[in-house]
Amino acid sequence: MSGNGYKSIDPAVQEMLRIAEEEGYETVFSRAEEIKPCPIGRDGACCKHCFMGPCRLVGKTTRGVCGATLDTVVARNLARAIAAGAASHSDHGRDMALTLLAAAEGEAPDYQVKDLQKLLEVADILGVPYRDRDEKEIARDVALKILAEFGQQKGELTYLKRAPLRRQEIWRKLGIAPRGIDREVVDLLHRTHIGNDQDAEHLLLGAMRCALADGWGGSMFSTDITDILFGSPAPLKTRANLGALKEDEVNIIVHGHEPLFSEMMVLAVNDPELIEYARSKGAKGINLAGICCTANETLMRQGIPTVGNFLSQELALLTGAIDLMAVDVQCIMQALAPLAEQFHTKFVTTSPKVRIKGAIHVEFDESRALEIAKELVKMAIDNFPNRGKVRIPKHVSEVVAGFSHEYITYALGGYYRASFRPLNDAVIQGRIRGVAGVVGCNNPRSTHDYAHEYIVRELIKNDVLVVQTGCGAIASAKYGMLLPEMMEEVGPGLREICEATGLPPVLHMGSCVDNTRILTVASQMATEGGLGEDIADLPAVGIAPEWMSEKALAIGTYFAASGVYVLFGVGSPIKASEEVQRIMSEGWERTVGGKLEFVEDPEEIVRRALEHIDKKRAALGLEEYNPAKFGKSGDRLMLQFLKALEEGKEVSLYSAKSLLGA
Ligand code: SF4
Ligand code: SF4
Repeated sequence: MSGNGYKSIDPAVQEMLRIAEEEGYETVFSRAEEIKPCPIGRDGACCKHCFMGPCRLVGKTTRGVCGATLDTVVARNLARAIAAGAASHSDHGRDMALTLLAAAEGEAPDYQVKDLQKLLEVADILGVPYRDRDEKEIARDVALKILAEFGQQKGELTYLKRAPLRRQEIWRKLGIAPRGIDREVVDLLHRTHIGNDQDAEHLLLGAMRCALADGWGGSMFSTDITDILFGSPAPLKTRANLGALKEDEVNIIVHGHEPLFSEMMVLAVNDPELIEYARSKGAKGINLAGICCTANETLMRQGIPTVGNFLSQELALLTGAIDLMAVDVQCIMQALAPLAEQFHTKFVTTSPKVRIKGAIHVEFDESRALEIAKELVKMAIDNFPNRGKVRIPKHVSEVVAGFSHEYITYALGGYYRASFRPLNDAVIQGRIRGVAGVVGCNNPRSTHDYAHEYIVRELIKNDVLVVQTGCGAIASAKYGMLLPEMMEEVGPGLREICEATGLPPVLHMGSCVDNTRILTVASQMATEGGLGEDIADLPAVGIAPEWMSEKALAIGTYFAASGVYVLFGVGSPIKASEEVQRIMSEGWERTVGGKLEFVEDPEEIVRRALEHIDKKRAALGLEEYNPAKFGKSGDRLMLQFLKALEEGKEVSLYSAKSLLGA
């Protein structure tokens, strides 16, 4: 199954691709057509870990020059990718911790603690004293404690205790409880050097340990510190897709991942002097929007619209309406720089880690964060009069986002009784069949957004509650699937729960590092009672239908190592080794309770996901899922009552009989 024959199901993307083709602009889509993936590398069978190679283990070649087997090569390639993914997320977490420290010590005056409650909760988990202490002192000690966990050499990461006890025991028994974040990344890079770990199973255990250091370490720290500095998300309304650009306003795009810079841009575009300056240049205002996970960060907290996910980055420039695009780290295509040169767009790199040839570099410095953000906004305004032809697709959708795990417990139980109990009960009763995280990237090797959209719709139709992050969440946002109106399309049991709690059936939980919010939800559901005692007992799955990045592999691995069945679409980087596939599927299921499988067909992904959810329900002794059990929506009578009133019929609100007769 490959979608509808288009490169994307997004009408705005289709429109911009037509323009690109007519006017001869290359894009990621055209390059993917032109560059066929090397099948040996794609399947994981090419090793270039030393200069005796590269060794391509195909056909009659079953050993590398050093004697490494196909299983070793495939496992080693995957492990290296996981180390890079974990390093990226976790280094993002480190930057967040360094900024929290700088803010606490008065060296980053534009950042303050916005969510004191969250700071205290984190201090409590980390064992940082907080009673009768100044907020800044607590923030400093929290930052120092977190930074120490990056360099810790022995022991265990403190956040492991946020997992169910049973899970912690499994990690300890297998020797994969991560010691320190940097240590596990370095350990895995060391193991994968020529002449080290050459046992696929053992290599993959190391990969799990490293990925866990990301999930229950670097990424989770990142989420928590971001909430502390910028506030824990709560539901808000905004818009998604290229139609969020404005022809008569200065358009600025923030793209990348870390919210440190984009949050300052939010402040800068609201500066009255800069708005006035924009007017003086003929613009009606300043419009800030995002792409990729920077978009998710500012969307979740500030309601800043997103103009698209990973594959839309070049298309935004093609509109001719972007006056400035500022990027920080991760998922930024080099192709943006030469493309921006063909338009009036100022393309600006800001991270000390990232330079792109052809880009303007304005280095971001947390000690004068707002000042730099204002400089960039001014640069965009000055560029507004230089615009050429502008063509902005009209397509844009409303979005409700901002579902932190804290808000979900509040929605389920209110301020005084916030808990996951109602969610667990709904799963136990079968109103909710199970829970699925549908997350991750886009990949031009499969129809853009097709698998995301198809899988989410199928799951909610089958009474599976869906939580999302990353570019997957942006896909749903663009198709109106993050709105309460989606209730019309969901199974009757899930609909009842959504009607009762006010939660939509598809919840946007944030950026890629915020997959750790999903870990937290899973952990709390497992410890709430009634659904076993470990994450592996839950009727839950994780799916990355259109993955492409090494970070996605790290995420998939830490979910599997935490007990979740994870399904990746598009294709398999371990296809060349049946043994590695077996280890990560049946092998991991036996040892850690979760598994990671690569399945190209979205229909097969849904089938396996539902089968797994039902298998877990059966293992818990829960009633078999019955889609007919809960009949029609609970709101049906109220809707009938309102209709009957409109028609002038005599009905009583308190008599179902009179209503049903109406
Ligand atoms: S490590 Fe071994 S398999 Fe890999 S490139 Fe070197 S010789 Fe070849
Ligand atoms: S989901 Fe994938 S493509 Fe999107 S921002 Fe995250 S890593 Fe990048």
